[in-house]
Amino acid sequence: MAGEELDEWLRELWGRVASRCPEFDLVLPGTASFVCQAAGCPAHCCRVFTIVPLGGREVVRLSRASGLPPLELVECEDGEPLTHRAFPPTRPYFLARREGVCRFLGADLLCCQYEGRPDACRVYPFYVFFFDPATYLPMRPEWRMMRSAVDRLTGGNAVRAELGPVPLLLRHAGCPGSAGPALRRVGWLTLVEETFRLQYDEPPGPAGEP
Ligand code: SF4
Ligand code: SF4
Repeated sequence: MAGEELDEWLRELWGRVASRCPEFDLVLPGTASFVCQAAGCPAHCCRVFTIVPLGGREVVRLSRASGLPPLELVECEDGEPLTHRAFPPTRPYFLARREGVCRFLGADLLCCQYEGRPDACRVYPFYVFFFDPATYLPMRPEWRMMRSAVDRLTGGNAVRAELGPVPLLLRHAGCPGSAGPALRRVGWLTLVEETFRLQYDEPPGPAGEP
């Protein structure tokens, strides 16, 4: 299954699961591409998300870029990093905030640590979510299964119910950045891969913990 047939299949699946994801829109070839509208947008993304997940590797990158010690980059309580132990080992920390807003959002509403910013900021407003095509329920399979599903999709191979989870490329509907030219298929495939890699591909292990 490839090309327009695949798009139609994904559109049909989205029609059955969209009510579970009211804050998102489906992204397919032909969808308007992303161009940040920061000049006319009050930094919606950096203000509204109260939780920006951060992995050990990202803490190291941000620490190098900012010159700040890791403990100043993550949300802490009583001097200890807050961690999301429910989903170990990926992205266990949270980006530090000040007065409810990311500590790196400048007065000019620009990111003052753009080079070192977390993966969640690099990938926004796109997300890859996985769905069970038999039950139409969202899934969070183990990483290898997700990797295979994305490979099947980007490789133009069959995406069928019996093959397991189906990845859908979605974007946050609250972002007004859908303003560019229509995505070509090759650009869409690259976006699926890049979004998946940034959203999920966190190597496990203790290296780089704050
Ligand atoms: S919400 Fe979208 S358009 Fe606005 S600053 Fe963020 S990425 Fe740019
Ligand atoms: S690190 Fe930069 S891009 Fe990310 S939420 Fe903070 S200000 Fe926004």
